[in-house]
Amino acid sequence: LPSFAYFYVEISEFYAEMPTASLPPPIREPAAVGFPASDARPDFLIIGGGVLGLAIALACRRAWPEASVILLEKEARCGEHASGRNSGVLHAGFYYTPDSLKARFAAEGNRRLTAYCRERGLRVLACGKLVVARNAAEVASLETLLERGRANGVPLEPVTHDEARRIEPRVKTCGRALFSPTTVSVDPGEVVAALAADAQNLGVRIHSGEGFLGRTPDGVVRTARARYAPGYVINAAGLQADRVARAFGFSRHYRILPFKGLYRYSNEPTGAVRTHIYPVPDLRHPFLGVHYTLTVDGRIKIGPTALPALWREQYGGRQGFSARECLEILARQTGLLVHAGFDFRRLAWTELRKQSRHHMAALAGELLEGVHADQFRERGRPGIRAQLIDLRTRRLEMDFVLEGDARSLHVLNAVSPGFTCALPFADHVRDAVARHLQTPIPT
Ligand SMILES: Cc1cc2nc3c(=O)[nH]c(=O)nc-3n(C[C@H](O)[C@H](O)[C@H](O)COP(=O)(O)OP(=O)(O)OC[C@H]3O[C@@H](n4cnc5c(N)ncnc54)[C@H](O)[C@@H]3O)c2cc1C
Repeated sequence: LPSFAYFYVEISEFYAEMPTASLPPPIREPAAVGFPASDARPDFLIIGGGVLGLAIALACRRAWPEASVILLEKEARCGEHASGRNSGVLHAGFYYTPDSLKARFAAEGNRRLTAYCRERGLRVLACGKLVVARNAAEVASLETLLERGRANGVPLEPVTHDEARRIEPRVKTCGRALFSPTTVSVDPGEVVAALAADAQNLGVRIHSGEGFLGRTPDGVVRTARARYAPGYVINAAGLQADRVARAFGFSRHYRILPFKGLYRYSNEPTGAVRTHIYPVPDLRHPFLGVHYTLTVDGRIKIGPTALPALWREQYGGRQGFSARECLEILARQTGLLVHAGFDFRRLAWTELRKQSRHHMAALAGELLEGVHADQFRERGRPGIRAQLIDLRTRRLEMDFVLEGDARSLHVLNAVSPGFTCALPFADHVRDAVARHLQTPIPT
């Protein structure tokens, strides 16, 4: 029922805005095929100009300065998808189980990206973060987070209600909370632009407005402008990563199930909330629940939701619509309503209710005093998570996934905290490439 109600709401919105024909799907047949000699055989061809594609391009170029690196970005500029539409929070790294890649990279990523922003003169808001237990049942999960923080080497302070109130005078707790001093805010657009500039200065050729369309059996990559015979391909295509990977024979057991994140801005002035405030998350899901975040300039917003989206780039209206993809995803969601390896029905219903401003404000009101729905009339720019589902277990994948061989490597499930992890994650990808190519990285 929730799926159908949501489908009805979204499709009515879609038809209301739809002029005549629908847009072509993102991966389509080339309009023209050229073969610019200088571009034909790059050592590395990177697909996707989000934070990960850019960080990987930089890491490869630094490791192998003689190698030519071309980055394909299908949009007119880099960072138009998750990397430019996220919360801008550099997570500290205490949510993740110590054996995960997320745990391995988040704390280091937080340190390195914070330092990078400071060195490059980009804005950083060092406001920290409170995680609050709203009831006695959540105190146990707070303990789990504290243990994970310790295991992951993350500074994290257990605080009482009074101590939490000294950090944020309006916060509500059931007596216990955690304070993370190293959680900071940055401007994701500024970070992407700085990485893109660094990559270009280092000799990476960014081809924006040029999307990967397909690959011939002999390994030639097609775009609408050119054909490439790359030495090695690295796929960091975010929401499209599983489709790109399938063109190389990977992602057989995975599909991206997109989840849309909606935000609402508060009309309260800068300074009305002093720190990020998060609830204790449901650790069975990769989502963190409705929380308060401060943007780098101190604006207050709540969200994001995790609504099951009907197509990958369903930001609003008909944008990115593909009938085939919509039917495929609907069929998958309907299947998950009947039989999933997790409680998809409950998740979908919980998230669907957050479409209502009043409900979202009520959830935010569990974290902070003095909250009213009227404060949240302004919507933020939505983002969509490239969340992977494992077709064998019908479960959401909780960690980053990498697949590859001696010809190509595919970054799948680059979900939160992918932005925070970008720099060490890129080094990890570089090392995996070196292993596949059996090429040592010069020291
Ligand atoms: C709502 C939301 C909130 C989040 N909040 C946080 C947060 O606070 N902190 C945090 O650490 N992480 C957060 N994340 C996660 C973070 O944004 C992602 O992990 C990260 O941005 C992933 O980067 P990416 O480069 O893999 O993907 P993207 O930024 O999506 O980049 C992929 C790029 O590939 C391009 N592309 C796709 N197909 C093709 C093709 N065929 N040819 C060429 N190019 C192609 C796309 O245009 C896009 O630019 C959030 C994500 C969302 C959605």
